[in-house]
Amino acid sequence: MSFTTDDASELGFASLAVRAGQTRTPEGEHAEPIFLTSSFVFANAAEAAARFSTATGNIYSRFTNPTVRVFQERLAALEGGECCIATGSGMAAILATCMTLLKSGDHIVCANAVFGTTVSLLNQYLNKFGVATTYVPLSDLAAWEAAIRSETRLFYLETPSNPLMELADIRQLAELAHAHDILLVVDNCFCTPALQRPFELGADLVIHSATKYLDGQGRCVGGAVVGDRQRVGADIYGFLRTAGPTMSPFNAWVFLKGLETLHLRMRACSESALQLAGWLEAQPAVERVYYPGLPSHPQHELAKRQQAAFGGIVSFEVRGGRQAAWNLIDATRLLSITANLGDAKSTITHPATTTHGRLTPQERERAGIGESLVRISVGLEEVTDIQRDLERGLRQLVPL
Ligand SMILES: *Cc1c(COP(=O)(O)O)cnc(C)c1O
Repeated sequence: MSFTTDDASELGFASLAVRAGQTRTPEGEHAEPIFLTSSFVFANAAEAAARFSTATGNIYSRFTNPTVRVFQERLAALEGGECCIATGSGMAAILATCMTLLKSGDHIVCANAVFGTTVSLLNQYLNKFGVATTYVPLSDLAAWEAAIRSETRLFYLETPSNPLMELADIRQLAELAHAHDILLVVDNCFCTPALQRPFELGADLVIHSATKYLDGQGRCVGGAVVGDRQRVGADIYGFLRTAGPTMSPFNAWVFLKGLETLHLRMRACSESALQLAGWLEAQPAVERVYYPGLPSHPQHELAKRQQAAFGGIVSFEVRGGRQAAWNLIDATRLLSITANLGDAKSTITHPATTTHGRLTPQERERAGIGESLVRISVGLEEVTDIQRDLERGLRQLVPL
């Protein structure tokens, strides 16, 4: 018997992660096949005409591909959303959302602590087409409310934020947004649905960079938007068909394999990150640790309420500014110096000069990203090995 999405409501998260979206072909394959084909053949001219006019069924892989469809259905099931559209990158997912839902004259209220490239997209490109953005502190509800204009169409945020691990109260912001006919868009990249389910808290749309934890092994770039049938299934799908920011079937297959182990990986990296954050907090060379799992985190209670675990990203400030941060990074041998995150391999980054390097100094300051800040994406190595790798550099910063 083949699993169909009609069964989805009866299954738990781990089962959906392995099964949702798959329908077997007559070949009886067990793993999901990769449909590496740009177009599909019709039985006759009438069938071709019918498929083109309704845009349903397999037509052309810019907007219909069976492997991509399995990924979309599986991610929608995991998020608890009605529909998902996969895109070629996380940025393409954000672009597709804005291009579809906004027009010239519209206004976005955006958290000031969002992914650096998201800020560039809004300021350099959306702004050029008459869409203005106001930035507000992520956790300051009054600031969100004060920024609302009659043209405001979207609230946009990530929680926890990158790289400072600040949280937004999704439920409160959803209530505020809906009271003003505004849509709440949550980039759920850091938690994934394994740890946080924004729709249950009132979000309207969920964005993913599949590049990160959904892949989980640092292989492919991809993204997704999840939401309701009209906005995502019809409107954003229409943009995808017309503009083509499409996910390749091969990448969709890699992400499908990633989803199968998502909850196990998120649990493992969260446990290691919690242990590492506590250890870092006790190091003399470390000035401050940003991790929502620590009781010292100002939003620890919200994190416990809103998330199933605290995630794999730990950021911290070292004593001594940029040079100290760079020295610590350069002293590592196990951790990879790379800007990616959510990989099985732990990575270490200096956000101010890499991921957030394209921001102006004012934008960076607004986002709270200082020169002494270091971000670690905790992977699946032994946490004691990660600690040993950091210990060498930390000892150099504070001579005994
Ligand atoms: C990486 C990232 C993005 C952009 O995704 P790409 O796949 O790199 O285009 C968006 N949001 C967050 C939070 C990210 O970490």
